[in-house]
Amino acid sequence: MESSAGGLRNTSVVVVTLETSEVYIVVSLSSRTDTQVIYIDPTSGSLQHDRKRGYDVFNTQDEALNYITDGSKSASKSTVYAKAILGYIVLGSVALLLVATNLAASIPYLPGGGCIYTISESKWIKILLQNPLQQGKGEVKNIQELTELEIDGKHFFCETRDITHPFPSRFSLQNPDDEFVWNGWLSFAFRRIGLEHHCVILLQGFAGYRTFGSLGQQDGNVALIARRSRLHPGTRYIARGLNSCYSTGNEIECEQLVWVPKRSGQNVPFNMYLWRRGTIPIWWGAELKMTAAEATIYVSNRNPYKGSARYYQRLSKRYNARNLGVASANQNKSGLVPIVCVNLLRNGEGKSESILVQHFEESLNYIRSTGQLPGTRIHLINYDWHTSIKMKGEQQTIEGLWYHLKAPTISIGISEGDYQHSRQHIEDCEGEQIYNDDITGFFCLQALQNGVIRYNCADSLDRTNAASYFGALQVFTEQCRRLGIFLDNDLASDHNTRRNSYSDKSWKRFDMTFEEFKRTTILSPVCELADLFLIAGDIHATLYTGSKAMHSHILSIFSEEAAKAKQFSVAQNMKITLQRRYNNAVVDSYRQKQLEMFLGLRLFKHLPSVTVQPLHVLSRRFSFLLKPIASIDQTPDDGDSLLCFKQKDLIWISEQAADIIQLFIYLGEPCHVCQLLLTISHGADDSTYPSTVDVRTGRDLDALKLVLEGASIPRCPNGTNVVIPIPGAVSDEDMGLKTRSSLHTPPTNPSFLYDFEGLEGEVDFLTRVVVLTFYPAESTSSPVTLGEVEVLGITLPWRNIIASEGPGLKSLTHVSKDNANSFPSKTSSSSNVFGTTNDVLPHVKCDTSRNTQVDLLSGEDIVSRSDSQPMTEISLRDPSLDMCLDHKEENDPQRISVQDKTPTKTAAQHYINCFEILTAVDNKLGFSEAMKLEIERLRLNLSTAERDKALSSIGIDPAMINPNTLIQESYINSLCKAANTLAILGQTYLEDRTTGCIGLDALDDNNDIDFWNINRIGEGCCGESCQVHAEHLILTLTSTSTSSSESTYLCSTCRRRVCQVCCAGKGAILLRNNTGGSSYNDIDGVICKLCCQDSVLDALTLDYIRVLISQLRNRQAEAATFKACAQVVGTNYISGKKFEAGKILELLHNEEESLAEFPFGSYLHSIESASGSAPPLSLLAPLNSGLQQSYWRAPASSSCVELVIVLGNLSDVSGVVLLVSPCGYSMSDAPTVQIWTSNRIHKEERSCVGKWDIRSLITSSPELCGPEKSGKEGQYPRHIRFDFRNPVRCRLIWIKLTIQKVVSSSVSFGKDFNLLSFDEDLPSGPGRRASIGGTSESDPCIHAKRILVVGCPVKADTGRSFEHANSIKNWLEKGPLLNRYKVQVDSEKLIDNDLVLEQNISPSSPFSAGFRLDGFTAIKPQLTHSPYSDVNSLGTSSIVFEHRFISPAVLHIQVSALQGSSEETVMVAEYRIPEVKGGTAMYFDFPKVMNSKKMFFRLVGDVTGFADDPEEGGDTGRPVAAGLCLLNRIKLYYYAHPTDLGRWASLSGI
Ligand SMILES: [Zn+2]
Ligand SMILES: [Zn+2]
Repeated sequence: MESSAGGLRNTSVVVVTLETSEVYIVVSLSSRTDTQVIYIDPTSGSLQHDRKRGYDVFNTQDEALNYITDGSKSASKSTVYAKAILGYIVLGSVALLLVATNLAASIPYLPGGGCIYTISESKWIKILLQNPLQQGKGEVKNIQELTELEIDGKHFFCETRDITHPFPSRFSLQNPDDEFVWNGWLSFAFRRIGLEHHCVILLQGFAGYRTFGSLGQQDGNVALIARRSRLHPGTRYIARGLNSCYSTGNEIECEQLVWVPKRSGQNVPFNMYLWRRGTIPIWWGAELKMTAAEATIYVSNRNPYKGSARYYQRLSKRYNARNLGVASANQNKSGLVPIVCVNLLRNGEGKSESILVQHFEESLNYIRSTGQLPGTRIHLINYDWHTSIKMKGEQQTIEGLWYHLKAPTISIGISEGDYQHSRQHIEDCEGEQIYNDDITGFFCLQALQNGVIRYNCADSLDRTNAASYFGALQVFTEQCRRLGIFLDNDLASDHNTRRNSYSDKSWKRFDMTFEEFKRTTILSPVCELADLFLIAGDIHATLYTGSKAMHSHILSIFSEEAAKAKQFSVAQNMKITLQRRYNNAVVDSYRQKQLEMFLGLRLFKHLPSVTVQPLHVLSRRFSFLLKPIASIDQTPDDGDSLLCFKQKDLIWISEQAADIIQLFIYLGEPCHVCQLLLTISHGADDSTYPSTVDVRTGRDLDALKLVLEGASIPRCPNGTNVVIPIPGAVSDEDMGLKTRSSLHTPPTNPSFLYDFEGLEGEVDFLTRVVVLTFYPAESTSSPVTLGEVEVLGITLPWRNIIASEGPGLKSLTHVSKDNANSFPSKTSSSSNVFGTTNDVLPHVKCDTSRNTQVDLLSGEDIVSRSDSQPMTEISLRDPSLDMCLDHKEENDPQRISVQDKTPTKTAAQHYINCFEILTAVDNKLGFSEAMKLEIERLRLNLSTAERDKALSSIGIDPAMINPNTLIQESYINSLCKAANTLAILGQTYLEDRTTGCIGLDALDDNNDIDFWNINRIGEGCCGESCQVHAEHLILTLTSTSTSSSESTYLCSTCRRRVCQVCCAGKGAILLRNNTGGSSYNDIDGVICKLCCQDSVLDALTLDYIRVLISQLRNRQAEAATFKACAQVVGTNYISGKKFEAGKILELLHNEEESLAEFPFGSYLHSIESASGSAPPLSLLAPLNSGLQQSYWRAPASSSCVELVIVLGNLSDVSGVVLLVSPCGYSMSDAPTVQIWTSNRIHKEERSCVGKWDIRSLITSSPELCGPEKSGKEGQYPRHIRFDFRNPVRCRLIWIKLTIQKVVSSSVSFGKDFNLLSFDEDLPSGPGRRASIGGTSESDPCIHAKRILVVGCPVKADTGRSFEHANSIKNWLEKGPLLNRYKVQVDSEKLIDNDLVLEQNISPSSPFSAGFRLDGFTAIKPQLTHSPYSDVNSLGTSSIVFEHRFISPAVLHIQVSALQGSSEETVMVAEYRIPEVKGGTAMYFDFPKVMNSKKMFFRLVGDVTGFADDPEEGGDTGRPVAAGLCLLNRIKLYYYAHPTDLGRWASLSGI
């Protein structure tokens, strides 16, 4: 196979699975010379690649393989060799890697280079991940089905050129046309790690080429590329006509490229012709009845032409030559883009297809009448193909087609040009020049096609393929003629002599009869072309119907065997008809689902629990234990193996029985910690594993916070994976409120609607230290066993943030952007997410809602509450943020104005005000009022803790306003169901809307009614102009309320005029359409509240609350993102002037790397900064980050600073480089630098490597003094290098900077000042000495720009397997003294909405010592509410954090028992339930043995966070997921010695 693009090698992909089950992807691209290694995290499935040479970047594939396998072949369990990566996704506990193992070069060498490969063999590599994520059976089945999708032979790609746009593409590979990219979702994982080229851009359809010649010699090449649009994917009976994305089923763009092959170095002339095919762009379908011969065609009776205009608009944009910036020869004077529809349907009277023909015509009339497409002219040619063949025969039918096509084809024309190998003569090109980074030369286009012909039949299959062939054939002969390839038969004898006379007539074959054509044309190229169309037709037919094309013998009409083919085809057609019928009936919906999943669509339905952005395991790879822990084994690994995956079955044993075991984990990268994953590990006795754990987290050792206390770890079988969700830190004050309120809340009030009390913990993306304190069970006195410990979290895409580019930056710009055009309309079209009804606010609220917004990028503090709210406040008053504001070039004018506007009332006061208004009439709050109040609270940005505090201040128990308890119990279920349906419909709508925008300008829907249209308190009907009066204004306020807009609408149901307040939200229309069974997914029109059921309105309200809660959390996470960025690069980074470090490499010597660079390097202890200084972490930030003028300064008071730097990994350090601040040094602030190295945190263990005095240096190097001269950009910055005598292997570096505060006149030079490599050799003049200054000399402080630790990383030698000594083995094998046996339960029943299990214990039973709980089978669905903005929060590219991880739904189980003679119910214990795979046995011991005849097990916590797999169980009729049901899931046990029970022991074991 010829290598494409002139590369020296073909792309090679090796997927290596090690014995440990770890998987590596080793990729050597044809377009590069090196090899990348991508590691698949075995727990989370996330891809890991850090661009570290010698670690995951290598010179050759062999070098990489050698590194992975440690040089031994036996280390790998399996190896797959492949030729391209097509995609990778993590689906819960399974990861799927799709690779092409065999390719066919379909078009080996395009003009200008590039090879198009068709995938001839592909393979899904399934990787089972080691996490306990619970997935439903339906999901597991769907994942399996996804891997059964047919890839081979039907998909193609080009590694080096963009082929998603018409040839030659004006775009580089990075900017494909989304409409034709089929693996956009599948390839996202590679884009996220910055290796987007490592996954090819996959197209569906056909690509093929033929060479042909007129006289036995090769004259030309013809290529046919047929790209299938992905905007309306699906099979025949499901995807027909238009969908909500304004695209039609079976929509294909075809491209016929003809060129003359030339020797390399010569220009390549070519021309190209494009056409389209697809089903009719109106809303129609076909109903299949098994009895009828043909399917019944119907056209949607509501709005059947909705979106038709958008469809043509997309075509018009793509085929408008003017858009391409060149005056085309083909462009007509009017400048219109012609779209010519060739409709091949039966049009006879009584034919079922004729209804479509009528509507097709009507739809075009409709579009013309609306004037929506001013620049486009649409023609319709009706040409009844079947009837014509029947009446006139094939030959006349073809002639007739040519007659119709002649004028449009000539007027639309073709694109022509040549490829030139060098850009030397680019100026000479007359026409459009096309070049991009992917090609070396350029294309010069002299003519461009303007407009397009579009073919259709009913399915756009057989007739379409045939007719488009005969149309394209005419163009083909013309294409050849223009390239000087003569197909004239009568000229064949002497074609050189007569070339210029006769043959110059263009498009002459249009005027020929069929016989003339056949007689005068050399037929072999014609047959070659027919061959391409035959294959393409079969592929499209198979993709759409699951069977080959029919009636295709007509394509062979020019070949000798045409007659034979005809006979054969009768039988063939019969067989295909039957096959299609079967497929349509049985397989279509299955294939539809496959396609949607492949494209990443409707995942919230097909794979509801699947995480878009998996968590990362931060405790692996570069992380380590700060303090060694002693093990009974004689291995000196100090416990590091606990963090290492290589020994998943490791049993670590403590030296002796211990009260606690404490692990100080330093994470490999900063993150927000979300989960602790434990692998339960013990010998025969499971009681040696600890029973509870405390978790502390922090940015460094000085800032640790207790985030989880006494979390239960159940006894589980060896090897069980247990996830303990970790909440964010919560302030003591909030915690106190929570505890109090939970005491007040009677236990009978579960939150079925939403989590009323949920606390929002702090989010910190810079968490680096995790301390785990394990407590053994009190009963044990033996050594403690531990298994692998993993910390999972969310990392920010630092590389992109620092480079200000890539998908990660989206999150940042999203933070900064005013959600200018958000979904569904008004809520977010104002800059304010709460803006829905701003203008109509009663006076009391004046500007607060506007001010609760925080402009995150400019760092503005608009949260103007004067009372302090320590935890949930996202105020950017945080001093850590202000630090970076000093170098702001221009001060934000808004900042001042905002402060001027400070409202007189705080949010809490407003909230209380609302409460008082609502309770003014009636002293009690009803359900709807309580919901309204909660909405108000969320709009005011009050956290639950703040709410509770506000309420208690006026003596109100928050439980009183909890909507969860105020709702009628019988109503809960239907309301929740409606809200969940609404969420799905809203998400579907958004997904379609997003997809529909591909290739089009975004729609600007000007609509005042948003998705929910929830009125604020005090808002009422506007009065006279409204005929509905749904919302009466009962409440009197200080000001009269009027509707914000005077405009009224027309209710689409009752046809009454209705004001904005009395309209139901748009979501109501979705719900109504859904119950109508329509596939229609639009929100046109309005519906009034009186025409809606109350449950619909309540569902909108409930959904809105969920949305607001999610928004609140989102803002918190975004604020945390912003804060984290500010801590590294400064607040103004995105917009400010970047620091240009110039030639970084010059600072490093050969083979050296920067070892302490953020995000890998960090500090062990907090560092103080002066106010206005750049953040301390900026010292370690990558060189090309941060602002030009900013640098770090210690507080003026400190004369000594110690930086303890943790390196990215164990390294041989050869020195430290200090970049001088822009202000330069002076004698008073030039520090003394002392450096130590060590591996552990104890100061005593460190060893000094040197001490340097910069003051002595600056006397000899005056260029270090004084402010940086401007205009020196691009050169490398001023720096000082401290070289170590010998490289030192270490993980920690201590750097102590000291200045002498007392101005001393003499500088002492010690003997150990060995100095300093100096590359810069500038002449020193006395004049420059005088300019010493920068920071004022009167107040010197320690400062620096950057610190680089340089040296070579060392491959960590962790994970060596070892054997326990025999004595230890024996100890492990020893079983427990006592075994667990089942306590007999007489009866059990569910009470309180199934959340409580009551067990009656037989009086003769022994005392129970604990209970066994089998893991729940409910899943955590990703979709919990409708989307609140245009940004698809479930979309891969926009998401950085998932709420499911930041605010995890946690369940607890409370055990109580009937006790004593008074038969009182006494609480025994409460256990936080970790997440395990469904059905896993977990044993929880009671604090003491229980003697009670009745036990109660109550499930508490966020039950709304769980759901059942929709494909598994149906509707249970209960608000709690069936998978959480406690029935048969709990068994009591007692402990006994096996011999005491005799032969019964084996029967009642548990
Ligand atoms: Zn009204
Ligand atoms: Zn109405």
